[in-house]
Amino acid sequence: MATVTDPADKAGTVRDGTTAGTVGSALNQAGHEQIVFCHDAPTGLRSIIAIYSTALGPSLGGTRFYPYASEDAAVADVLNLSKAMAYKNAMAGLDHGGGKAVIIGDPQVIKSEALLRAYGRFVESLNGRYITACDIGTYSQDMDIVARECRHVTGRTEPHGGAGDSSILTAFGVFQGMRAAAEHSWGSPSLRGRAVAVEGVGKVGGHLVTHLIEDGAAVTVYDINDAAVARVLAKHPAINVAATRSDLVSGDADIYAPCALGGAIDDDTIAVLRARVVCGGANNQLAHPGIDKLLEDHGIVYAPDYVVNAGGVIQVADELEGFNFDRAKAKADQIFATTKRILALAGQEGVPPAVAADRLAERRMSDVGRLRGIWLGS
Ligand code: NAD
Repeated sequence: MATVTDPADKAGTVRDGTTAGTVGSALNQAGHEQIVFCHDAPTGLRSIIAIYSTALGPSLGGTRFYPYASEDAAVADVLNLSKAMAYKNAMAGLDHGGGKAVIIGDPQVIKSEALLRAYGRFVESLNGRYITACDIGTYSQDMDIVARECRHVTGRTEPHGGAGDSSILTAFGVFQGMRAAAEHSWGSPSLRGRAVAVEGVGKVGGHLVTHLIEDGAAVTVYDINDAAVARVLAKHPAINVAATRSDLVSGDADIYAPCALGGAIDDDTIAVLRARVVCGGANNQLAHPGIDKLLEDHGIVYAPDYVVNAGGVIQVADELEGFNFDRAKAKADQIFATTKRILALAGQEGVPPAVAADRLAERRMSDVGRLRGIWLGS
């Protein structure tokens, strides 16, 4: 039975999902193994750790530090994110289940050494069932602080044996997924002469533009942050800059790469999108269930987000063994073959690629996870 445990509750009560109100019903629907609420009043820490699955090993996923409007919004986010991590880790061939954590509050206001160390102690209390890392609002320097209280943390700074900036391999993996989608669609993985529209040129989008330019693509970018655009323009003066998002998505492009926020692919976007391939780094790109079918109906090939953006988690998982960049890059390189396999399987099974990816991930969780039932003796 899935449980909601609250370490802040001195009695250590374990509540079953049916008695936990809104959280309980969300948990029952989502099918998670465990949700832990962490509270430390003096530091202002309010955190939720969600473990979707440990079928393949200890759950792994980052900590999002964000000023959620309500606890319900934080619960909904951590449930979605931890489930997505289970699928991403399974598809990337990692021996990790899926988990994620959120810290509720504005990191600019409440982040402190004591809060991060309190958080680290709660992660430690799970005894390795959850391994944390960076996400929106948390950085490698924060993980160094968390690690002073906790062994189950990765994504640390290089002086502390960490792997450094995960967006480098995330962008590399997205580029490999894009090459695979190009081969699937046009018979060649080369992006030479292809027009690519990149939405969001932060860490991932910025590195992706470099790969695209090096491969000979014609790149158009859009970002709400002028400084981000200026940075990429200074490095690659030949790129085009769209004035609005609408100009970017309705413009003449072969490939659309969402690299900003989730939910980029909605009905309105599909109605105007001229690109025939969607492949980008953003998490949770599909705005609602069924939108993957709409993409297919419009003849648009979708390279599933969690398949192509797994380079970052591949990097932080590698750090747990003692980071080796070449080994991690070789694993991220496999995103090319995985993407091709999923697009082919989707065709064979007559389902959208997002469904084919989910099926493959679920099969690995089931086939490999089942092996833990083989008794090894004491
Ligand atoms: P980032 O904050 O460095 O970059 C995001 C960029 O998107 C910023 O430049 C921002 O100005 C821009 N942006 C925000 N809202 C926008 C909007 N409405 N329209 C256009 N641009 C907008 O973040 P990042 O690390 O590059 O991550 C980008 C995406 O990739 C996120 O969805 C993230 O969850 C996902 N992702 C990142 C990694 C990683 O290793 N960094 C790994 C997997 C997935």
